[in-house]
Amino acid sequence: MRKLFIAGNWKMHNGVKDTEDFFNELFNLVSNYEKVDIAIAPPFTSIPKAVEVCRTKRVLIGAQNMYFEDKGAFTGEISPQFLKELNVDFVILGHSERRHIFGETNDLIAKKLKKALNEGFIPILCVGETLKEREDEKTETVLKEQVDSAFNNLTPDEAKRVIIAYEPVWAIGTGKTATPEIARDAHFFIRKRIKELYNSIVADEIRILYGGSVKPENAKSLLQVDQIDGALIGGASLKAQSFAEIIKIGM
Ligand code: PEP
Repeated sequence: MRKLFIAGNWKMHNGVKDTEDFFNELFNLVSNYEKVDIAIAPPFTSIPKAVEVCRTKRVLIGAQNMYFEDKGAFTGEISPQFLKELNVDFVILGHSERRHIFGETNDLIAKKLKKALNEGFIPILCVGETLKEREDEKTETVLKEQVDSAFNNLTPDEAKRVIIAYEPVWAIGTGKTATPEIARDAHFFIRKRIKELYNSIVADEIRILYGGSVKPENAKSLLQVDQIDGALIGGASLKAQSFAEIIKIGM
């Protein structure tokens, strides 16, 4: 049984004060969430506050990006060692905004993924097609390329520890959500590919989240799809109220 994973990606929102307020409100709204893994990736500068306020709570705190080297002349990058000092649990890699705004390639993302696993983080690897790629019927080609490249250098034990987030680029921050059928087909394809690359044990264990305009109003229909093991949520994770509503749907 794969445990449901509900993660928030705050992007460049919620500074230190908003982070403290968010968690205080969230813990007033939800308790007894044993059946669900809850995770939040604040901006780097809000991570220490998030870790502090969640110290006695079962909430995973993550980073939205990470470099694959420990130190050096890499202005503006963040070392995995710095994240370890902050007790970060997970790291989002290959988010579509990193791929499409900041030009991250499959090769770079594969290096980061290997490093994140070596350092003991839970990686959330984002994959997904653009609208043009979907219209050109290239969704499966793109997903295959992204998955194959990321997993190219991983052992079965490493592969099992990766969480994949299927995030169709056309659904991120646009208010357009993939239908449960579209999401199910993409998740099924990704899991099938993992089985081809490894075996059915790895494919059955790996968690695949859906991301793309998940909101309290559509979370139920998505989370009840058997292939969908949770959600990666942008906009609706910024406020404790809407994030709590989605967690409750998962409970
Ligand atoms: C995301 O940032 O990963 C995301 C899915 O954003 P949103 O929920 O706002 O579409």
